[in-house]
Amino acid sequence: MRQVDTLIVGGDVVTMNAKRDIFSPGAVAIKDSKIVAVGPEDRVRQLVEADEVVDVSGKLVIPGFVNAHTHVPMTLLRGLADDLRLDVWLLGYMMPVEREFVGPDFVDVGTRLGCAEMLLSGVTTFNDMYYFEEDVAKATAEVGMRAILGETVLKFPSPDAGSYEESLARCRAFIEEWKGHELITPAIAPHAPYTTTDQILTDVRDLALEMDVPIHIHLSETALEVTDAKRDFGAPPIEYVDRLGLTEAKLIAAHCVHIEPHEIKILAGANAGVAHNPSSNLKLASGFAPVVEMRAAGLPVGIGTDGPASNNDLDMFEEARLASFLPKAVKSDPTVLPAQDVFAMMTIEGAKSLHMAQEIGSLEVGKLADIVVVDQDAPHATPRFHLTPNNVYSHLVYAAHASDVRHVWVHGRQLLRNRELLTIDLPKVQTRAREMAQRINDFMSQREGSLLIKTIAIGGFEQRETYEVQVKVRASDLAGVEKRLQELGLEVIKHSVRQQFDTYFIFEGGDNRYLRYREDNQLGGAEGAGPTGLTVHPSYTLTLMEGIVEREYQDSIILTRSRYTAQATYSLRFYREYFHPDKEIEVVKWRTRYRVTYEGDEFAINLDNITRPQGLGSFVEIKARTWSASDAEHKADLISKLLRELGLNPRNSIRAEYTHLVTKSPL
Ligand SMILES: [Zn+2]
Repeated sequence: MRQVDTLIVGGDVVTMNAKRDIFSPGAVAIKDSKIVAVGPEDRVRQLVEADEVVDVSGKLVIPGFVNAHTHVPMTLLRGLADDLRLDVWLLGYMMPVEREFVGPDFVDVGTRLGCAEMLLSGVTTFNDMYYFEEDVAKATAEVGMRAILGETVLKFPSPDAGSYEESLARCRAFIEEWKGHELITPAIAPHAPYTTTDQILTDVRDLALEMDVPIHIHLSETALEVTDAKRDFGAPPIEYVDRLGLTEAKLIAAHCVHIEPHEIKILAGANAGVAHNPSSNLKLASGFAPVVEMRAAGLPVGIGTDGPASNNDLDMFEEARLASFLPKAVKSDPTVLPAQDVFAMMTIEGAKSLHMAQEIGSLEVGKLADIVVVDQDAPHATPRFHLTPNNVYSHLVYAAHASDVRHVWVHGRQLLRNRELLTIDLPKVQTRAREMAQRINDFMSQREGSLLIKTIAIGGFEQRETYEVQVKVRASDLAGVEKRLQELGLEVIKHSVRQQFDTYFIFEGGDNRYLRYREDNQLGGAEGAGPTGLTVHPSYTLTLMEGIVEREYQDSIILTRSRYTAQATYSLRFYREYFHPDKEIEVVKWRTRYRVTYEGDEFAINLDNITRPQGLGSFVEIKARTWSASDAEHKADLISKLLRELGLNPRNSIRAEYTHLVTKSPL
């Protein structure tokens, strides 16, 4: 008789081994971290003598679930911003808040909270991607859960690294510290192709191969990502990362919602794993992953919850049910993904998708003892049939709930006993989580109340501390003005013709600030000229306008203060959904722009013909940068003089921006 630590008896043991054996009643014996015997109860009892016998009669004994993709510390951002498109949600809310709050303390609390939730729903292994993974690792190891922890690498500064070189260095240090740990597998997590670069991905591949660790990355999550990748990389995301050699490493691809048929072959050929996240894909309206096609190609597909900010929980039972129902509905075929296959995706196939099927995912001798016991006596779980083996899988996938999870062992150690968490002080963790949420809440309410803070939050803005003296004059005969301008014989530094599409975001109340999104199409000649002999050079800017006039001089010449401007790297739609303007005004104009020297000073003269809204007319703008009160006064005098030389009537000058002419609102 062999002496073992724990013997679990009396329940139906669903092994998920290759033969899909179910022992009823069965027994599982644990010695140290491993399963040393599994089989019919009477046979196992003859083999082992146990220090502790746990009778689970009437219950199910199953392999612990594998949560194949998540961002565990985001438990603390659960419910912060929902019902938004992925880019607005991620770039407008999650990332700015993360830059402000995410640190060792944040990830420690978030991880412990996430571990509590996962253990209570039968998860024993999770695959994470976040920041400060060394702190995620410490908390996870203390709780006693198993995890692959991917330290994030991005092309812009992240909460734990000022640059990608720094985050790569963090990855290396993290891997060196944790590699070989009995519970933690360190990994590298380049967030996605659209948030990294060729160079970053190449360096990531080299490091992953050198250190023999997995690469965890989001791939082909949205249709937009695929369209952009084809434009930017000349290939869809998976083909692109394959070209960069990421498939040479142990690759874990999260999402693959818009994977193309040839890319399924690429991943299958590379022995990569896929993490399917049905809740997240549905909630963010990303689409339906071709799970049936991927599995048919031999690609292991695990099930993930994704982060709790896009789900909003870490409940694998719920994910499994969705994973099963979705392809049935999408394909109008209830046979495409049976319960047994889905249960495999939660366990052994999930382990395979994480390159861990040798160690976990099934109840077999020699495997690590990651075991879950599930009750069957709740009303929703009654009754259960025994006609075919499939009855038990139907029961587990379609009827069982997280609340049915009774006991959990990870690595041979019991972490949940009768739904009591043995290694987590849950009330303490919840108190810390609520305190953190309060701080985030205060920060967000301040941000949402200030257009300036909200604008700066998405990054890229710089305040140009400039003052401008300017005037705008209604002028019906722009050609005449231009003719006189040429007759004056001023030195022209620069001349351009452009069509500008301006969208103004107007906010009611507030601080008199508004935003202008400008698509500026400059017409140029020469190279690449089209049939009209003209080429168009579009550029996009977002400007925070401040309707503040610092001073007013003669002829309605005004002094205005600097504005915040950034290259508009996102779409107009993104800004619209992020800022929620109360009103939008579109102004389209042809602008002929002269940069001239007049009496030794530099001025910009804009001849604007407004084509939309119709009837607004045409205008001449004269502007000059200034840096002191006396310089401003001097330039105001010169503008006044120039106005007259151009034959413009100063009485026709207006102080308003075009947007105010449209709304007829006072400045
Ligand atoms: Zn994710």
